[in-house]
Amino acid sequence: MEIGIPKEIKNNESRVGMTPAGVLELTHRGHTVFVQSGAGLGSGFPDEEYKKVGARILDTIGQVYSMSEMIVKVKEPIKEEYGMVQKGQVIFTYFHFASSERLTQAMIDSRAVCLAYETVEDEDGSLPLLTPMSEVAGRMAIQQGAKYLEKPVKGRGVLLGGVPGVPPGRVLVLGAGTVGIQAAKMAAGLGAHVTILDVNMKRLRYVNDVMPSHVVTEFSSEYNIRKHVRSHDLIVGGVLLKGGKAPKLITRDMLKTMRPGTVIVDVAVDQGGCVETTRPTTHENPTYLIDDVVHYCVANMPGAVPYTSTMALTNVTLPYVLSLADKGWERACREDASLQKGLNIVKGEIVYEELLEAFGPLK
Ligand code: NAD
Repeated sequence: MEIGIPKEIKNNESRVGMTPAGVLELTHRGHTVFVQSGAGLGSGFPDEEYKKVGARILDTIGQVYSMSEMIVKVKEPIKEEYGMVQKGQVIFTYFHFASSERLTQAMIDSRAVCLAYETVEDEDGSLPLLTPMSEVAGRMAIQQGAKYLEKPVKGRGVLLGGVPGVPPGRVLVLGAGTVGIQAAKMAAGLGAHVTILDVNMKRLRYVNDVMPSHVVTEFSSEYNIRKHVRSHDLIVGGVLLKGGKAPKLITRDMLKTMRPGTVIVDVAVDQGGCVETTRPTTHENPTYLIDDVVHYCVANMPGAVPYTSTMALTNVTLPYVLSLADKGWERACREDASLQKGLNIVKGEIVYEELLEAFGPLK
């Protein structure tokens, strides 16, 4: 198969759809891989690295789209790319269709086969192509939180690990899912005192089993949240209600009870956030203050660490890419129920139930 890796042209997106390691797997199997010149640079992979493993470097994004049967990328095609998508071409990427009727209509019009990373789903309901980005964001939440706790950027001026003779900082983690567990692990590693809350007792039991004793689990209730926000330095929001908006666990009035310079990193911002005062921010301008509480609400946290994020993403997408390339999309999806769930739009028809519910049968 001919597979194309275009350069991402969405603002501030430096990840790339495939690493040289992934290209090598494809070329070994006899597939042809076209990589747009400079596509991997932002993730630390110059054209030379791709050439060494047998990729053909093309100058323009238009060439990549027009010469490939399948496009593997990171973000949804943006307006400039709509006209480049070919009839019958497989596009394997994050789409998040429900958030854009315009994109959905454009992909229907293109008659392409749109396979969305975010809806590939395992038997147990987990979303294997979303997990690595939650892992990145969970770990980053502590890195960012520690930075914004510093006084010159309006934080409380607390060092998370403390020092001998001075107690460590206190980190409150809301949600013990992928984001929450990674955040708790990083905070515990720095020596902070960690409290982690969830409504799912299975998750809390797991955390209790695997984490050191300075990570304390507690059931998530309004009562407990009110109690803890007053005494914690850094609060990480990592809750998720599948398919829905995040519950507002921290209300406006709770902010007044927090100490000035407390930092909230609301990772759940992409689902509306679990803090009433959350609004999305960007890497250029990541924080704002309300009631002297620092809010960090960047909706695409992994974009700031493209080297790590690209590798984390392509580790999990590669097996699916290989299957699609070897078998063609129809057989690959027929033989793999997880991948089948990734099909959102096929040659002009919406085939993903939730998307149909969102927009009805667009034509
Ligand atoms: P997950 O499903 O693994 O975990 C969510 C957890 O929240 C679950 O354990 C669930 O039981 C818990 N929860 C639900 N209601 C709760 C409540 N009332 N109190 C406490 N816990 C509650 O989800 P995840 O992969 O960890 O993702 C968390 C959020 O982070 C999602 O909204 C996801 O989209 C977002 N995210 C954001 C970025 C970013 O860049 N900002 C990156 C990756 C993920």
